[in-house]
Amino acid sequence: MIIKNGTVYDPINDIDGEKMDICLKDGRIVEEAEGKEIDASGLVVMPGGVEIHTHVSGSKVNSARSLRPEDHRKDVVPKTDITRSGVGYTVPNTFVTGYRYARLGYTTMMEAAQAPLGAKHTHEELNDIPILDKGVFTVMANNHFILKYANDEPEKLKNYVAWLLKASKGYAVKLVNPGGVENWKWGGNVDSLDDNVENYNVTPREVIASLARANDELGLPHPIHLHCNNLGKAGNKETLVETAGMFAESLGSPGNSETTVEVGESAKNRVHLTHVQFNAYGGDSFANLSSGAEDVADVVNKNENISCDLGQVIFDDVTTMTSDGPWQHRLYKLSGKKWNNHDVEMEAGSGIVPYTFRSNNPANAVQWTIGLEVALLVEDPWRVYPTTDHPNAGPFYHYPKMFAWLMNKDLRDEVIENGPSSASSRSGLGSIDREYSLYEIAIATRAGPAKRLGLKNKGHIGVGADADIAIYDFDEDNIEESFSRAKYVIKDGEIVVKDGKVVKDTRGKTICADVQGEVTDEMRDEFSKYYTVKMDNYPVNDSYVPREELIKCG
Ligand SMILES: [Zn+2]
Repeated sequence: MIIKNGTVYDPINDIDGEKMDICLKDGRIVEEAEGKEIDASGLVVMPGGVEIHTHVSGSKVNSARSLRPEDHRKDVVPKTDITRSGVGYTVPNTFVTGYRYARLGYTTMMEAAQAPLGAKHTHEELNDIPILDKGVFTVMANNHFILKYANDEPEKLKNYVAWLLKASKGYAVKLVNPGGVENWKWGGNVDSLDDNVENYNVTPREVIASLARANDELGLPHPIHLHCNNLGKAGNKETLVETAGMFAESLGSPGNSETTVEVGESAKNRVHLTHVQFNAYGGDSFANLSSGAEDVADVVNKNENISCDLGQVIFDDVTTMTSDGPWQHRLYKLSGKKWNNHDVEMEAGSGIVPYTFRSNNPANAVQWTIGLEVALLVEDPWRVYPTTDHPNAGPFYHYPKMFAWLMNKDLRDEVIENGPSSASSRSGLGSIDREYSLYEIAIATRAGPAKRLGLKNKGHIGVGADADIAIYDFDEDNIEESFSRAKYVIKDGEIVVKDGKVVKDTRGKTICADVQGEVTDEMRDEFSKYYTVKMDNYPVNDSYVPREELIKCG
């Protein structure tokens, strides 16, 4: 196939709006090809979108579907000759999830949290999501073995991290409220990086530092993916800044670790701070909540080893779902909505609460400004990625609204002017003139996340890359509509979307980290003592990943 005469935005290959042809063969980008031609004259051609943080499969997502019959009733999706039926709204079923991501031009996505005990379920649903390639992050920061080894057994910790990633067919190490979720099992939480985790004599700071070191010493493709402590609380920007401060210098190597690898030129450990909007609050209550976006952008701007994604608020119904059980309980108390809590034995927790972000609510209006403010204040678009932490701050299929706000100051000002005064008095968003270019959108939604995930064949359309391409009929006076319905989406070299409609239902790959760890006698012994499942039945076997792609470490 040849895509002729498109206006190409491919930041990894320094192509900024050049007219050129793109050739595809056998699922890859090649130098030359023959065959079907797509006339892309006047159209924008980009690599397929890469979603770095979303919640679309697994036990908490499925619990949310059960919890909210009223949610899907308002969004029933009939089948077509090609696509299967399903429902939305905030927690779509697997099929609708894949079709809707594809229509936006996304071809790769990362499910951002699985408890290892639920990993088989996660992979079953990932396999059910059509078209996209996908991976999943494994939650670790409240796991028995991690908490036990975090303090002073770095080699055991590293081995366990590698084994657990392999056993859960995970791609990256996820940390959610380190220590806080374990304490929640006893009715508590942690308030600071130096609080004690019940029964383990370890602190959140030690858990974060030890997992960051293990992650980088194993050479995992993605940094630790960190949901900071104190999420959702007024004044929590202090915690985020303090956490980021840990990464301003090398975390060093504890114990006798001899395998320290240099990370980049700085030898500093890497960290990805996720959905920072939820961790960037000033003030001391929801009544005087203010934007801490400047502080967050400052730590990202000063440290090349730190990246972040937004968790941008969309004014709409949402379903909040996270491993952060104590935060979900707090939100339940604040909102009075229904609530689901699930403590996962030995390793994690989760909670679910429906919520509605309203444009006339002073606190919600401030929250809305924060994501955009961070995106516009971080100078390097390679290290800030627009997400809504779907479905926590908004359904993912509203991404085009977010792109429009980033690209057009007038559209932002309209929301600020029509909203409560808090949006201008407690946030600096209104004073920012910057507008993202198409090139910067291509960086922040494709090239940047692919690089940060360590996916060398994604996020670009140079020779050798996967033939995953999005083509848009871009109209700068109607940005939202332009990104809502891609003109063409090509996945693995096949046209899967045409004129905003799914025209082919395909199955993507599951992307896993290529790591090995050993089962030690200690692990087997404690597993048989404390888990309710047998260790031999715990790992996800190969039959769960019919199209597995292993990404090398180091
Ligand atoms: Zn999330």
